[in-house]
Amino acid sequence: MISKENIIKRFVSYVVIDTESDSNSKTTPSTKKQWDLANKLADELKAIGMHDVSIDENAYIMATLPSNVAHDVPTIGFISHFDTSPDFTGANVRPQIIDNYNGKDIVLNASENIILSPDYFEDLHLYKGQTLITTDGTTLLGADDKAGICEIVSAMEYLIKHPEIKHGTIRVGFTPDEEIGRGAHKFDVDKFGAEWAYTMDGSQIGELEYENFNAAGAVVKVKGKIVHPGYAKGKMINSMYIAQEFINSLPRMETPEHTEGYQGFFHLHNMKGNVEETVLEYIIRDHDRKHFEARKAVMENLTVELNEQYGREVISIEINDQYYNMKEKVEPVMHIVDIAEEAMKQVGITPIIKAIRGGTDGSQLSYKGLPCPNIFAGGHNFHGRYEYVPVESMIKATEVICKIAELTAKKYKV
Ligand SMILES: [Zn+2]
Repeated sequence: MISKENIIKRFVSYVVIDTESDSNSKTTPSTKKQWDLANKLADELKAIGMHDVSIDENAYIMATLPSNVAHDVPTIGFISHFDTSPDFTGANVRPQIIDNYNGKDIVLNASENIILSPDYFEDLHLYKGQTLITTDGTTLLGADDKAGICEIVSAMEYLIKHPEIKHGTIRVGFTPDEEIGRGAHKFDVDKFGAEWAYTMDGSQIGELEYENFNAAGAVVKVKGKIVHPGYAKGKMINSMYIAQEFINSLPRMETPEHTEGYQGFFHLHNMKGNVEETVLEYIIRDHDRKHFEARKAVMENLTVELNEQYGREVISIEINDQYYNMKEKVEPVMHIVDIAEEAMKQVGITPIIKAIRGGTDGSQLSYKGLPCPNIFAGGHNFHGRYEYVPVESMIKATEVICKIAELTAKKYKV
């Protein structure tokens, strides 16, 4: 059995270290303080008996658990990130442990009247009777993704202590700066040397994800012509009105606030303008690659039409792809999802397989040649003061990692 006390102790020892990342920084890791936890993790991996523990100049950590079987088994990996989101402070995290949760309101902070309530956060009902770790209401918790790290380290420790569980070579990877979209950027896939891997970075117990959005960003620039309003007839061109035509020509219901599931969207997230120039910033999202390309074409065609209509170049667009749906890379090796699904079932969890309405490090890694579905780490309400994690979910995630290792070795036994 995975020890509950050890999980709590290990998790708390991570979250009290501030590792907030910073998108304005150009360095890797983006903040110096991420080294504090990175160095501790490298030491801990050595202490539990992992082999080839390395930490590179960018704070990427890798380690190996050698195979304990005679037959060939593909090397698999488990990956998490140790930074926390810049959306909310991660300094001075004071975790609170609520044993045998009674299903009622949790007072995070009495003096500031900050309450974590199941009336608002309904998922809390799932965890009645369990042990929850919450914040004190003034910081985020950092279960995203220190829960994932805790689970991977705990699983490796368990496998080392239980050589009767047979497994192939397991690689472990911990990254900085995932929350600012750079976790996979400097991840050396060749050095990692795994055939496939799993990010332990999902939320609710049971989550298993191998589909995410295709994503692009678009900047639309509209050029106008400013003339004194009193003498403007036939001369002034107001860029804001042309921008408005552009906005109104896109389907109003295909926006984030009107879509869910597999529905894609155009999202106007910034707009700045005066008569002379208006700039619109969009993001484009769609799970389906054809629909994604079609969305980009719609926007490009619109600019062509508007330019024709005005008889001159009034509007231009620049579109840049950001990331792609990992499904394209995972579907050809679907057994890696099947193993994770089977592992969950064998430890008594009902898998919840759904498409991510966003991206993950796993999608970038998948396109760098390391197919990488995402598995739950157990936390809820990421990136804010209401973040919490049930310890029982972390124990289950740890069991899932051990079980995946075991099932992979079994599957390749001749
Ligand atoms: Zn995360």
